[in-house]
Amino acid sequence: MVSRYIIQYPLLTGQAGNPPAPEEAPVKPPRYFAASTVAEASDILTAEEGAYVIAGGTDLVVRMRDGLIRPAVLVDIQRIPDLAAVGGGDGHLRIGATVTIAALLESVQVRHLAPLLAEAAAQMGAVQLRNLATVGGNLASAVPSADLAPPLIVLGAVARIAAAAGERTLPVEEFFVGPHRSALRRGEILTAVEVPLSGEGSGAAFAKFGRRSAQVLAVVNAAAWVRLRQGVVEDVRIALGAVAPTPLRVRAAEDLLRGRPPDPRHLDEAATAAVRETKPISDMRASADFRRHLSRVLVRRALERAVGRAREMEQTHAL
Ligand SMILES: Cc1cc2nc3c(=O)[nH]c(=O)nc-3n(C[C@H](O)[C@H](O)[C@H](O)COP(=O)(O)OP(=O)(O)OC[C@H]3O[C@@H](n4cnc5c(N)ncnc54)[C@H](O)[C@@H]3O)c2cc1C
Repeated sequence: MVSRYIIQYPLLTGQAGNPPAPEEAPVKPPRYFAASTVAEASDILTAEEGAYVIAGGTDLVVRMRDGLIRPAVLVDIQRIPDLAAVGGGDGHLRIGATVTIAALLESVQVRHLAPLLAEAAAQMGAVQLRNLATVGGNLASAVPSADLAPPLIVLGAVARIAAAAGERTLPVEEFFVGPHRSALRRGEILTAVEVPLSGEGSGAAFAKFGRRSAQVLAVVNAAAWVRLRQGVVEDVRIALGAVAPTPLRVRAAEDLLRGRPPDPRHLDEAATAAVRETKPISDMRASADFRRHLSRVLVRRALERAVGRAREMEQTHAL
């Protein structure tokens, strides 16, 4: 039924103008399907072997070009209404999965209610990439360095996941299973993330180190969220990216700060403890040792800025 809407999508195969060498098996171009509802997308993802969701394509198409994946069908979810919306209500901010990084950065609601996400978005890719790349794609690619993962984890965000059969939710912290492996099951689509609104006296910050200042994946990234009450840390969440098979929340480091004043000594201790929870690898971007060093520096930096912002919030409310 659905297959009559499927068309060939040869541009993504890299075959146009570049015929395969005679000994190479020809790569069959994937069929392309533009879904208009989540149920329609889910049906085809369930029915077709080798079907992949495509959103901005900035991760998927690179992996196809590099021969890492060979989708048989691409299911485009960008025409599904609602998935591209940002909206508030019930104490949270809802960000649709196909909201682009550029839209996230420009959204007045995001800047006002979850400025940490705008801070991270500003450090992702460059203009061209931000215009295509989506929030859902950043998470669903399940890359350990995904820049939105640590901020969403420390904000306590929840992933909304839908399939033809129904909907479920999962804390973003539990969404990642391993490199390129998320908790999504066959036929499921990430439809949105919901970010609880942080209360009075809280502040958050993001810090990233890349090999250059734009168009680059993080060597390490980190986010911190703190809530202060009467000069002590009432609650705190810290997360790191690119230092383990999945984005990582460092709970032992958090435990060292809860109930203590956020002075330089305690921030140093927490940053040092965070390093002990990491499991970095050496790769073409950095050695494991350098990643451990960066983890301490970036956690310390993110904590200091988060505490500064929380203090500003406290002072503003006291006026
Ligand atoms: C030059 C360059 C620079 C980059 N810089 C950065 C950077 O600074 N920071 C960073 O974090 N990343 C960066 N990236 C990686 C990538 O652009 C981002 O992760 C981006 O957010 C992916 O979103 P997308 O919409 O393009 O995903 P796509 O490529 O469309 O999809 C990625 C994966 O997620 C799946 N998927 C997408 N959406 C959904 C959904 N809603 N439900 C279920 N599955 C879904 C797809 O099937 C695919 O497996 C960069 C990439 C390039 C090429």
